[in-house]
Amino acid sequence: MKVITNIQDLQASIQQVKNSGSSIGFVPTMGYLHEGHLTLAEEAGKNNDTVVMSIFVNPLQFGPNEDFDRYPRDVERDAELARNVGVDILFIPEVVDMYDGKQSVTLSVIERVEVLCGRKREGHFDGVVTVLTKLFHLIQPTRAYFGLKDAQQIAVVEGLVRDYFFPVEIVRVPTVREEDGLAKSSRNVYLSKEERREAPSLYQSLIEAKNRIDAGERDPDSIISMISMNVQENTSGKIDYVEAYSFPELAELSRLQGEIIIALAVQFQQARLIDNIIISVEPEEDSNV
Ligand code: AMP
Repeated sequence: MKVITNIQDLQASIQQVKNSGSSIGFVPTMGYLHEGHLTLAEEAGKNNDTVVMSIFVNPLQFGPNEDFDRYPRDVERDAELARNVGVDILFIPEVVDMYDGKQSVTLSVIERVEVLCGRKREGHFDGVVTVLTKLFHLIQPTRAYFGLKDAQQIAVVEGLVRDYFFPVEIVRVPTVREEDGLAKSSRNVYLSKEERREAPSLYQSLIEAKNRIDAGERDPDSIISMISMNVQENTSGKIDYVEAYSFPELAELSRLQGEIIIALAVQFQQARLIDNIIISVEPEEDSNV
């Protein structure tokens, strides 16, 4: 595995790979790798000749009161894990490499960001599409791998790729979870012992929602209240949002039907956790017929 920290070296290596006619599977991350990230890399390895992973904690996607400075970092451990899972090129740029002076063109996301994390984290997705545009141009991936844990990110990135004809296929990878259902996240290390015990209730509430929908419930408000109550009763966290939309359009729903996402964000003392489920819901039988 090559570890590359400099843009010119990366471009030279990518040129070599491209010249040899190899396909490139790309896994963008912010590091502090866990099984979720490694699963993306494994998926990339199955369908591509070369796997490129980036580790970059992108300041542009953090708000002023968010956790950019204390986002967990451990590049040596990450390199070891990436090597073991078959990454060929690990790209770890510095902030000055990615943002060399003032931008003369900025990107701004206008669809699929009025809801969920987009509404709560102003400018977050502008930062995400900006860094991904840079990374896609540098790495020229055949396929890029994203986790469904960050489902709104996938919805936004699919919009970016479609609107600007990026020649890359976006591959959605299911959320990897701990045994008790908690979605794996680099931020889980910031949960206290007590919070860690509570945190599986997030996913349990989503599963309970799915069970109720399977049993015929189609009212979004009733599902959202059930989840909110469940999370409030079983955790010390503060609910940031519990919402349901069509997926990937993220449009409002008067009734739950079609491809839908139910997503939540909960703020604990030192960590904000997100989770979601995406399910296909049969339309209601029309009672007037
Ligand atoms: P991050 O390092 O948090 O920016 O995540 C990098 C990529 O890994 C994103 O595409 C995430 O959606 C994905 N990812 C993070 N956690 C998980 C998980 N538990 N399961 C699957 N993918 C994940």
